[in-house]
Amino acid sequence: MSRRVDVLVAGSGMAGLVAALTAAHAGCSVRLISAGMGSLALSGGNIDLLGYVNGKRVSDPWQGMQELAPGHPYRLLGESTVRAALDFFQNAMADSGWPMHTGLADGRPCNTDVPTILGTLKPTWLLPAALDPAVLQTARRVLVASIHGLRDCRPSLVIGQLRRYRGWAEKSFTPALLPAPQEGAPRSITALDIARLADKPHTRQWLLEALAPYAGQYDLVLLPPVCGSGAEPEIFRAMSSAVGCPVMEMLSIPPGVGGLRLRAALLRSLNRHDFMLVENATVLRAETAEGACAALLADTTLGERRHTAKAFVLATGGVLGGGIAVTPGKIRESVFGMEIPVPPDVASWSEEDVFGNHAFSRMGVSVDGDMRPVGQDAPQARNVFFAGRSIGGYDFSAEKSGHGVAIATGWQAGRAAAAVALAGEER
Ligand SMILES: Cc1cc2nc3c(=O)[nH]c(=O)nc-3n(C[C@H](O)[C@H](O)[C@H](O)COP(=O)(O)OP(=O)(O)OC[C@H]3O[C@@H](n4cnc5c(N)ncnc54)[C@H](O)[C@@H]3O)c2cc1C
Repeated sequence: MSRRVDVLVAGSGMAGLVAALTAAHAGCSVRLISAGMGSLALSGGNIDLLGYVNGKRVSDPWQGMQELAPGHPYRLLGESTVRAALDFFQNAMADSGWPMHTGLADGRPCNTDVPTILGTLKPTWLLPAALDPAVLQTARRVLVASIHGLRDCRPSLVIGQLRRYRGWAEKSFTPALLPAPQEGAPRSITALDIARLADKPHTRQWLLEALAPYAGQYDLVLLPPVCGSGAEPEIFRAMSSAVGCPVMEMLSIPPGVGGLRLRAALLRSLNRHDFMLVENATVLRAETAEGACAALLADTTLGERRHTAKAFVLATGGVLGGGIAVTPGKIRESVFGMEIPVPPDVASWSEEDVFGNHAFSRMGVSVDGDMRPVGQDAPQARNVFFAGRSIGGYDFSAEKSGHGVAIATGWQAGRAAAAVALAGEER
């Protein structure tokens, strides 16, 4: 058995990392145990707060939140809590050397439409400071570049699609295919392969030289996410100085280079505290007694381990992350085994339209405003809190609210767990 910590967090996706950092900031000793990286290994590096409500695009997420259903996590928390959570997150990112900021319209913060490698525009709230949202609007001459052998990004497709959008149709675009990093390189490479080459100055040189012939001719260069796999602003600066204008990245399909940068920045902050990360550990079950949780039992490479703490945050994600298990006709939370009430008719869980209103996307654990699980099947444990995608009541994919909900609920769960642990109220 390992040392009893103040707060034990299960899951190292965005929600778990934010919960851990919040509790650590409050002065708690924190251990984070995790089976894998979660969707940060797949996701982009921007923070989506709220891009759509009931299928309608929103420019101001705070206004859009008023129209969300009462059980939505943002409504449970309230606007001031969500704002405080995002402030905490932005301060933490700035401290870790990877600051993030919002775009502005008429001097007011708003969503920014960021191009994807498919040439669509995705509304997002926070972008790394290395990317200037204003440049996306004002740039007239745009170079859209990819790299030979990078299968996922075709500049001509991106340009053809971007021209359909107001504000983009008027821009002048040039496609470019930069040479492959090495002669005889494997035919198919990913953005992460290139980003790793950009990490080290001597291998980055190839990319800087490939961009040099385009220097001085453009207002903006759009690239797939290749400007380093860590959260290192100087790589963006080096790229921008090689072409003499801002370099910005398009959102891409997995691997999630941007998500890995967010993870790196958050771990950098966490490692300044009384914090320990235990990887490759899958929580199997919980021990509860007398109205409290005493321990989580985890399967590790060294066998089963018992992790004790004063308070617990479960940030184990949804079906993709492993926090929600689906069997025919039934959905369960995977650690406490809570059954999540669902309609008996499985056909009603989804719609034919792939982008439709799918009930299964909103299925998850019900919580109160402190992120304590509620409902008939909820564990009788005052020191257990949930965060992130394991919580129900929202559809991150349709709303474009993924990391936003993870940050807001992670912050609240981390705070509530820290309060219980520091007050010794777990007994
Ligand atoms: C392809 C893709 C791209 C996306 N892009 C963006 C984007 O650009 N911007 C944005 O805002 N959102 C994006 N999202 C959404 C966003 O990634 C998620 O909504 C959000 O981050 C969920 O975080 P989470 O921590 O709740 O869950 P997850 O990221 O799923 O993390 C769950 C964690 O729990 C661990 N775990 C699960 N079960 C156990 C167990 N029993 N024991 C121990 N550990 C366990 C997992 O290994 C993992 O570490 C994207 C999602 C996907 C799928």
